Amino acid sequence: MTSVSAPLESLIDVLVIGAGPAGLATALGLTRAGIKVRIVDIRAQRISVGHADGIMPRTIEVLDSYGVSNELIRKSHHVYAISNYNYDPSIDGIKYASRVPAINEPTARYKYIATHNQGFIEGLLLAGLEDANVRVEQACKPTSLELSSCEDELKDHASYPVKITLEHLSAAPGTPSSEIVHARFIVGADGAHSWVRHMLGIPMEGDSTARVWGAIDFTPLPSSNFPDWRNITTVNAADTGIMLIPRECSKVRLYIELGSVDEFEQDDRGRPDTSKITADKLLDIAKRAFKPYILETTPDKVEWWTAYIIGQRVATRFCDRGRAFIVGDACHTHSPKGGQGMNASMNDGHNLAWKLAHVLKSWSPMALLDTYEAERRPFAQELIAFDRWYAEGFNAESRAKLVREKGLEVALTGPAFRTFSALTTGIGIQYAPSIITSQVSPTVDVIKTETSPFTLTVGKRVPPYALMRVADCRPINLQDALPSDGLSKLIVFAGPLTSLEEKGRLAEVEEALRDIFHAFGTDKFRLLVILSAVSDDMSYKDVPVGLRKDWTSILVDSTSSFSNESGGAYAAFGIPVTGKFVAVRPDGYVGTIIELSEMRRLDDYLRGWLLRSSDPL
Ligand SMILES: Cc1cc2nc3c(=O)[nH]c(=O)nc-3n(C[C@H](O)[C@H](O)[C@H](O)COP(=O)(O)OP(=O)(O)OC[C@H]3O[C@@H](n4cnc5c(N)ncnc54)[C@H](O)[C@@H]3O)c2cc1C
Repeated sequence: MTSVSAPLESLIDVLVIGAGPAGLATALGLTRAGIKVRIVDIRAQRISVGHADGIMPRTIEVLDSYGVSNELIRKSHHVYAISNYNYDPSIDGIKYASRVPAINEPTARYKYIATHNQGFIEGLLLAGLEDANVRVEQACKPTSLELSSCEDELKDHASYPVKITLEHLSAAPGTPSSEIVHARFIVGADGAHSWVRHMLGIPMEGDSTARVWGAIDFTPLPSSNFPDWRNITTVNAADTGIMLIPRECSKVRLYIELGSVDEFEQDDRGRPDTSKITADKLLDIAKRAFKPYILETTPDKVEWWTAYIIGQRVATRFCDRGRAFIVGDACHTHSPKGGQGMNASMNDGHNLAWKLAHVLKSWSPMALLDTYEAERRPFAQELIAFDRWYAEGFNAESRAKLVREKGLEVALTGPAFRTFSALTTGIGIQYAPSIITSQVSPTVDVIKTETSPFTLTVGKRVPPYALMRVADCRPINLQDALPSDGLSKLIVFAGPLTSLEEKGRLAEVEEALRDIFHAFGTDKFRLLVILSAVSDDMSYKDVPVGLRKDWTSILVDSTSSFSNESGGAYAAFGIPVTGKFVAVRPDGYVGTIIELSEMRRLDDYLRGWLLRSSDPL
């Protein structure tokens, strides 16, 4: 909708340019944290078919934390297995080689990849935004961007150092088509050819590879007899590599590597000329590659197709002068075979939004924003390194060379995806030590105690685990108690509550937290208590009142008497029954772990990135 009635000059906290997965996730995160945001997109209408299509387990958890995952879980195709077929010269066709579980991560809450088209995924985020009355301003693009260079202005978080001219492309005749917006922050989420990045003069590192890919979405005819079409399947054919992605409503997506196919004219870099590629040609190549199996469709069942050159590039900076940020494809691009583009983009927004919100609310110093690039750029670089190697495995010539020179098995791509599962699922991300991710308690040696995959680890996401809510005996997954609401979660693993002495022990923790709340304010935190056991004659009300936000915030490590889900969270998390304290960042990653006897160290940790009520702004 074009906002033609908007004032000619206006102020906004954050202006997001681009309403793809990255921009929408950023806007949703900001909105949930109570920040005023505008989001504009050059397109007159949302996309409805094609583009990215795979949502990884960690991203489903993140969508859960915003309460927008239900429709995805209900309507997407769930991929549990990855199959592999290789060319066999003796039959001049492909032959089944292997089938492995798609997800290799024991702590994944969702043990599948959810597939649906990008427009549908964007719709989930849009619905979340619409709940807060935020709408994408379609057919709107920036035409100029000025970012102040005045140090004092940039340091003052309350200033509006970004000036953008927006043009409304479908303004009604007689109404102004351009307006000036003054923003405290701008986020460029405008895709691989980012105008914002260009205006900020941020170069990209890396290059477009020599690989050209075709992608096509269609519904196969019933006469098709390829048996693995409902699993992700990698096909190492004689002259190409194909990845089949099963999709919603019995559709499939094929990614077809065109670099080793002879029949296309070459461009001046020796790549197939994309302007000569058609849907029919892509289907012909696929039919040949799937021989002796039949994979057929008709033109009316082809929903979308494209041909594109893979760029594997990362921006040299993700931020300019602390006020302009780039997220998603605007700062990193990779091939879609690893299924990472959309996932990495949404998780950039998830990482950045709470940090911007903290600064905008005067809760944190501007230095907090440096952690966005420090955390997301190394992740993007790691993804690109994986992608370079992984995408090569689909090229028939490169694959043959790898097998010849390094003795790798031909079935490279399926097992590779599984081997890198920690990275590709997003579950294994561990942010490096920083002001927000720091082990302030020297007596807690997290690395040495990491014996279970569920061990709470500084820098990693809090894993899912079933607990029981004491007040109503209801099983609650710990991740569901950590919504993305822009607040830090303080978790007291308080040990057992089976005697009055134990209740007395908690009084010391209560006192320490009272000091923290006094210094930093209560509005930045959500407090949870997780008991290791509770006796029948005690209730959630026996937890000291200063540790009890309300009846929903007291959980216990036992569900056995009331459901068939087992307890064992303390052991799995690596928490002794004497307890520990865990601070969780607003994005669900463990910030620090502290002994209950050393609660003063919480003040050290928080002072690194939160302002006290008494601190000057
Ligand atoms: C044609 C195509 C096919 C793709 N296929 C796949 C795939 O099959 N699998 C996969 O994993 N990934 C695929 N990708 C990549 C995947 O879509 C991206 O990684 C992901 O969408 C990145 O999200 P984003 O929000 O950063 O960027 P985008 O999704 O590109 O969104 C950017 C948004 O910014 C808007 N915009 C651009 N310029 C301006 C401007 N100047 N002013 C205002 N708005 C602007 C665009 O209209 C768009 O809505 C594909 C991308 C493209 C372009």
